[in-house]
Amino acid sequence: MSTDTIRILYVDDDPDDLLLFSTILKKNKGTNYQIESASTYEEALEKANEVFDVFLVDYKLGKETGLELIQEIKAKQKHVPVIMLTGMNTGTIDQEALQVGASDYLIKGEFDARTLDRTLRYAIRDSQLMESLDKAAVKFRSIFERAGDPFLLMDSSSKILEANPIFINKFGMEPHSEDSGKGYYFTDLFRYEDPKLMLMEVLGKKSEVYDLEAELKINSENSINALISIVKQDTNLFQVLIKDLTAMKAKEEEELNLKKFSSTGRIARLLAHEVKNPLTTIVLSADQLKMELPEEVLEESGDLIEVIQRNCNRINQLVTQLLESTRFSELDISNQSINELLDQALEQVKDRIEIKGFEIIKDYQDELCDIDVDSEKVKIALINLLVNAVEAMPERGGKLTLKTYIKNKQCRVEIKDNGVGIPKENLERLFEPFFTSKDSGSGLGLTNTQNIILSHGGSIRVKSEVGKGTAFLISFNLSSS
Ligand code: ADP
Ligand code: MG
Repeated sequence: MSTDTIRILYVDDDPDDLLLFSTILKKNKGTNYQIESASTYEEALEKANEVFDVFLVDYKLGKETGLELIQEIKAKQKHVPVIMLTGMNTGTIDQEALQVGASDYLIKGEFDARTLDRTLRYAIRDSQLMESLDKAAVKFRSIFERAGDPFLLMDSSSKILEANPIFINKFGMEPHSEDSGKGYYFTDLFRYEDPKLMLMEVLGKKSEVYDLEAELKINSENSINALISIVKQDTNLFQVLIKDLTAMKAKEEEELNLKKFSSTGRIARLLAHEVKNPLTTIVLSADQLKMELPEEVLEESGDLIEVIQRNCNRINQLVTQLLESTRFSELDISNQSINELLDQALEQVKDRIEIKGFEIIKDYQDELCDIDVDSEKVKIALINLLVNAVEAMPERGGKLTLKTYIKNKQCRVEIKDNGVGIPKENLERLFEPFFTSKDSGSGLGLTNTQNIILSHGGSIRVKSEVGKGTAFLISFNLSSS
């Protein structure tokens, strides 16, 4: 709309009324009105495709009523203001007009130049306001819908009123709907009491909070580490933004694992180099002694030389194992289905599982989960994990869950048991060579497994709770072919 010209479409089947209307309008010197007219419903409908700043529509239009025309115009131009005209002030016409989208209502013969001018200007301004509000709402909605982080609106009782798709996907909670009567409460997601109480206090005081750290449940078993910010929108409306830290923490853990692994490897190579030479000298000297010492001396000293030899061998073996388990070896790569590899690994521990009567739950993704790997090595890695799981579970009630799925273009494997679990202080040491809690454990299983996964460019993580069980999570890049 230009500031000084107002384009009007005047729809009326009575030409006298049009004349009267133009005459009144012309009394307003300040504004330039450009009036076009339509005398039938059809003509008006056609012109409703053109740009006007405002439409004036008579209630009576031959066999149709102006109400229908208003609906048609609004369907074509949602925001244009339409003012209804009637010949008399009767009953409910004004309400009906408002219901179908009219901005205002004028009674012929009851308005003067100033009232008319004001009515037109107000109607135009209001509709412009509505249009910009609508645009802002669309913009807001799309930010809301497309936000990369979970986002929601709640009231001061923490009842969820609106939530974006990311939130609904992650937490499976739908916003509260008045009809269903049941509501979901944001506080129900908190795993622990402390942050929950803090949130309730914030809401009680109608204040705000930034970066509150809490664990939020995504289902009965799993939760995520989240940073929560709550911003007050209105007295009883709060915006909640959730930042999922799980992915960040997993990445940090992965990097740390890789660093640890390479420093262990360095130490192992150094050790091997520094130990093996003197060790060889000791072994050779012991051999020599055994050959050269007189028989009676040897007899007197018992098997001491053999003790030396045996222990040298043991040291040699350990150093070799250490070196082997921390050195990336050559890979014989081919395209493999992870489900098949897992089944083949399972076959190797089947006997032990059957003897102990463990239950196996397989949750394999049917979709192609193909990876380019050294099948023999990956099988060894999987077997190590399966054996550990078997060794961690009780005779009765052991449950082994094997899961494969694709996420973020990665093929993931989860091996979960409901065994003894791993104490926190051990979690950090799991992958260290020779770390074991078992009487006759080698402590090399996980070191080897980690080596194999890392040498494929994959990653391995562990989640465990004492008394509940342990889950190892492996990711490989999906095959590119
Ligand atoms: P080993 O099995 O010879 O002890 P590993 O390297 O395979 O050596 O495992 C190291 C340690 O990690 C185990 O001794 C055990 O304490 C712990 N561990 C590994 N997997 C599990 C599991 N699934 N449940 C409980 N503890 C485990
Ligand atoms: Mg083991």
